[in-house]
Amino acid sequence: MNYPKLFAPLDLGHITLPNRILMGSMHTGLEDKARDYDKLAAYFAERARGGVGLMVTGGISPSIEGWLKPFGGRLTLPWHKPRHRKLARAVHAEGGRICLQILHAGRYGYHPLSVAPSRIKSPITPFTPRALSARGVGRTIGDFVRCARLAQEAGYDGVEVMGSEGYLINEFIAARTNRRNDAWGGDAARRMRFPVEIVRRTREAVGRDFIIIYRLSMLDLVEGGQDWSEIATLARAIEAAGASIINTGIGWHEARVPTIVTSVPRAGFAWVTQKLKGEVTIPLVATNRINMPDVAERILAEGEADMVSMARPLLADPAWANKAKAGRSERINTCIACNQACLDHVFQNKRASCLVNPRACHETELKIGVAAARKRIAVVGAGPAGMACAATLGERGHAVTLIDQAGEIGGQFNYAKQIPGKEEFHETLRYFRHQLDDTGVEIRLGQVADAASLRAGGYDEVVIATGITPRQVSFPGSDDPRVLGYLDVLARHQPVGARVAIIGAGGIGFDAAEFLVEHAPSSTTDVARWTREWGVDMQLQQRSGLQPSQPEAPARQVWLLQRSEGRLGARLNKTTGWVHRATLKAKRVTMLGKVGYERFDDQGLHITVDGKPQILPVGHVVICAGQEPNRRLADELIAAGGMKVHVIGGADVAAELDAKRAIAQGTRVASAI
Ligand code: FAD
Ligand code: NAP
Ligand code: SF4
Repeated sequence: MNYPKLFAPLDLGHITLPNRILMGSMHTGLEDKARDYDKLAAYFAERARGGVGLMVTGGISPSIEGWLKPFGGRLTLPWHKPRHRKLARAVHAEGGRICLQILHAGRYGYHPLSVAPSRIKSPITPFTPRALSARGVGRTIGDFVRCARLAQEAGYDGVEVMGSEGYLINEFIAARTNRRNDAWGGDAARRMRFPVEIVRRTREAVGRDFIIIYRLSMLDLVEGGQDWSEIATLARAIEAAGASIINTGIGWHEARVPTIVTSVPRAGFAWVTQKLKGEVTIPLVATNRINMPDVAERILAEGEADMVSMARPLLADPAWANKAKAGRSERINTCIACNQACLDHVFQNKRASCLVNPRACHETELKIGVAAARKRIAVVGAGPAGMACAATLGERGHAVTLIDQAGEIGGQFNYAKQIPGKEEFHETLRYFRHQLDDTGVEIRLGQVADAASLRAGGYDEVVIATGITPRQVSFPGSDDPRVLGYLDVLARHQPVGARVAIIGAGGIGFDAAEFLVEHAPSSTTDVARWTREWGVDMQLQQRSGLQPSQPEAPARQVWLLQRSEGRLGARLNKTTGWVHRATLKAKRVTMLGKVGYERFDDQGLHITVDGKPQILPVGHVVICAGQEPNRRLADELIAAGGMKVHVIGGADVAAELDAKRAIAQGTRVASAI
């Protein structure tokens, strides 16, 4: 049997789960409006079909005060039940199980009605919450209980009580946000009364045959959080109050330690869950950056937890569990923890999706059916756009030839995968290698496609996915061999000295800086090194799990430059940009804006900063000044006429291009041919 621990059933008393895989709660943006629940039902049904043991919905509020945002999803009244019944039915029809997550946002509520234990504004929301009165606390507990009852009536298998991540319950538990001096605050015992009462009264209301998962903050990662003895005491009390499962919560949203981005090592926090083993007898769930079956199996085999939670990996591949069980892990479309289409979208009030799987949350709209007529199609360029397009065309039954001038598929992903913290990009390349093979795509590498060969090839249609060319920048001395392009560094591995200036501070400028300050490629498994660098106390002797960070000295002295004013990296992605900025700050990278590039010579790079001249004493310059579309072949074919030509990815538009757009466009174009 493949992954015997992962696929061992879990007996919860009244039901037995088929395996140890929990699909963790993920807000998708489809929870808020009744009209979106058919889409949400299709999304959950596909994952139930994919074999996951138990799923949890995105956060649903038990009251208006608990909204995440105005008019956010809530389950407070009987007439809210029918939409939820759709989800439960769709999942049960596929043989799955689903719990509703009850999430009261507390002071993270993005609206003026938000409430909290004390009137203390969070650093990440503009609204100051109202402090709940003692009666208000009692009423709020009642809201949780009513929500759980309604969930039960709607057909859910259980609820998850969201007690972590800095939301209301967590705010009651931590002295940081609870300054009360009544029965609900003061010492640790009174601060934890709120969650314990919620679980106790919920269990009373729903009876024995209903799952109650409690998501417990095991590592707050903010000043004024809990210490380990308080956490263990709370866990025992939550079990005694009637919870069926304890899930792990890591870090408040306002914490300045990354918890799920791609640079966090795989299973980087499973050791925290393990510390709780022995304190309780109910199953414990490990979370965060668990994305492949071998990682999940190891956690279970080493006794770190009884279940593993994965949220984003099941956005990326709904059939994750079935593939693992069938011994086809190499076919899993792995979550690369980029956040680009899931969390970043949610923070922008957009529907979530997935960079590597654009069908996620669009199951009813983006369908990959069999093509009406089989065509011969050439796809030129095997970067993300071309790979996704060719694989989808192949899946639909077309005869596809994928041509690339490079010796391997992947395009720019082959440079991205070398950036420290982006090692997961290897997985996407592995996935596409198999997907192209399985769908019968003929791959021709090391071959430059030109208009003549394409016309002679007898193709019905051609897709041009030739990507981009890096933008050239010209100033006196820019033709010096010590002035390099980012491809000279990442693709051709030209040596770079101890002091270097980077021109351009977009995504690639930041990545190049991270590459140049690191001594060696980072490891996706070196948890000890990572916790040292970010100041996480693995001994859990410090309150909140925080200790001073100890970043390793940078491999080089780096200056990162841009012409425009304003903070460098301001346009990086919402949920990950701060991590890149913090990383470079820790490596003492000098970031300069309002820069003019004057010349390069033996003294270094001569620049002006806000008009004032300065010489940076660097031996090398690396240019990361954006990109232009590589459209020559497309334009030639279109101008010649007589052939249906599609242009996708960077070849179509280079400005603000990323792999999310490239893969989505490749998939959509292919789904319509
Ligand atoms: P490309 O990846 O450029 O692929 C084009 C392909 O066409 C190449 O393989 C090329 O060899 C081939 N080709 C060109 N002309 C011909 C021809 N005439 N005949 C045959 N083959 C030809 N994006 C993100 O979303 N997230 C990230 O974290 C991220 N990090 C990055 C880090 C780095 C260091 C770099 C360089 C890029 C990063 N990107 C990231 C950007 C992302 O890789 C690109 O947006 C994406 O690769 C664009 O895909 P594409 O298919 O349009 O083009
Ligand atoms: P970019 O984000 O457009 O940044 C280009 C940088 O070069 C800017 O800092 C710009 O700033 C500077 N620049 C532009 N023209 C210049 C010129 N003529 N002379 C000097 N400087 C110039 O492009 P990129 O960094 O190449 O990234 C390409 C795409 O890849 C991005 O759209 C990004 O989405 C994607 N990417 C994403 C990630 C990720 O983590 N999500 C990582 C890497 C790449 P000034 O104009 O102010 O000088
Ligand atoms: Fe994972 Fe990125 Fe997809 Fe989100 S968008 S599920 S982080 S691969």
